[in-house]
Amino acid sequence: MRYISTRGGIQPIHFKDAVMMGLATDGGLLLPETYPHVSPDQLESWRSLSYPELAFQVIAPFVDDISEDTLKELINRSYATFTHPQVTPVVHRDGVYILELFHGVTLAFKDVALQFLGNLFEHILGERGERLNIVGATSGDTGSAAIHGVRGKKGITIFILHPHGKTSPVQALQMTTVTDANVHNIAVRGTFDDCQDMVKALFNDLDFKAEYSLGAVNSINWARVLAQVTYYFWAWLRVTDSGTATVSFSVPTGNFGDIFAGYVAKRMGLPIEKLLLATNENNILTRFINQGDYSLTGVVSTVSPSMDIQVASNFERYLYHLFQEQPDRVRAAFAELREKGSISFSADEMQQVRAEFCSASVNQVETLETIDSFYRETGYLLDPHTAVGVKAAQDLLPADSARVCLATAHPAKFGEAVEKATGNPPPVPAALAALEGLPSRCSLMDADLAGIRDFIIRNIG
Ligand SMILES: *Cc1c(COP(=O)(O)O)cnc(C)c1O
Repeated sequence: MRYISTRGGIQPIHFKDAVMMGLATDGGLLLPETYPHVSPDQLESWRSLSYPELAFQVIAPFVDDISEDTLKELINRSYATFTHPQVTPVVHRDGVYILELFHGVTLAFKDVALQFLGNLFEHILGERGERLNIVGATSGDTGSAAIHGVRGKKGITIFILHPHGKTSPVQALQMTTVTDANVHNIAVRGTFDDCQDMVKALFNDLDFKAEYSLGAVNSINWARVLAQVTYYFWAWLRVTDSGTATVSFSVPTGNFGDIFAGYVAKRMGLPIEKLLLATNENNILTRFINQGDYSLTGVVSTVSPSMDIQVASNFERYLYHLFQEQPDRVRAAFAELREKGSISFSADEMQQVRAEFCSASVNQVETLETIDSFYRETGYLLDPHTAVGVKAAQDLLPADSARVCLATAHPAKFGEAVEKATGNPPPVPAALAALEGLPSRCSLMDADLAGIRDFIIRNIG
């Protein structure tokens, strides 16, 4: 299996090089040349596998340059950090299935991918005798999952910038209580945009980037998408254990990463009836699917902050397939976006989009109402991101299909929104409560590029 770029500007590369490249060097995103096909018999034969065993079956056909034993070991180690024996259990409440993706160290679904990516990086760097210095900006979830994915790993140092006082207290503690020598938290006196602008400036300084082996962990890394494909297979197998006919998925989406993993599962032959893309008020993807309107507007802050995104970075992967794998069309679409602030689609293309996805946008009032009503009816607490997907599923997915809603975060991670919805703060898991008393390490700095750059140079491994 080799990997190509959505922009058509690179020679095909192997899996390990794709992982290390992250963003393709021509500015595009990496994709496998083809998708392996899973037959109905093969799928049935996976029913009795544990989560890590299933992950190996799903991931291995995409990996052409790591031995089976090594890959198994990397996968086993990644999922041993999850606190639930099923890793991502599925529960049935009030007519919907909840796929709980929050049993990892930071209580959000990003752990599923970033635990694996951290182990992959360490393995590849060790083999090549190389080092990697990860630099990233976070508004909360990605940064903490990335830090926990690489803490203590050989060959890797990580620098994560977050806006001082602007992440939730839980998110800040999940980052700053990691005191491993290879982890550097920088609280910036400024906004998330200030953090992101500085990180972009560091990456745009190509000499600096090459001299200090800078790397990223954002959601464009193919290995992250790949790791997420597993749980679509897992959930499908669990809800059909008792013989249900059709299965649909509702996915709360920001960067199009998680939903693209579902699309990959479907292309591999997993019989998914409907893929529902759920958004909050930042609804560019819903407007695209329902009206063919992909036009940029401002970002608004909501109670589901991890979906407050305007430009969905993984969307380009889907566009490449929608445009019949023609890189010219992808390049033209992004040129149009730069010039006009929008991309236009033909009637045929929109027909295909609607055959593959349906979509709904759920506003904050509805999100809080859903948390409250679901809790009153079932005693089960949804986090605000999950609630967006549950509300969309209740409205849009056929009730005679098994409706699987991806639960992307634990409710205690977004306790303020849950309290606003139900009148009570959610119970705090022991692991979160324990963070309060732990030693922490963080450098408070001004939003000054030169200062941040010096800090990185001084602390590089
Ligand atoms: C990142 C995140 C999302 C959005 O996932 P994408 O892959 O960006 O679509 C949804 N919910 C939570 C809790 C997240 O952290």
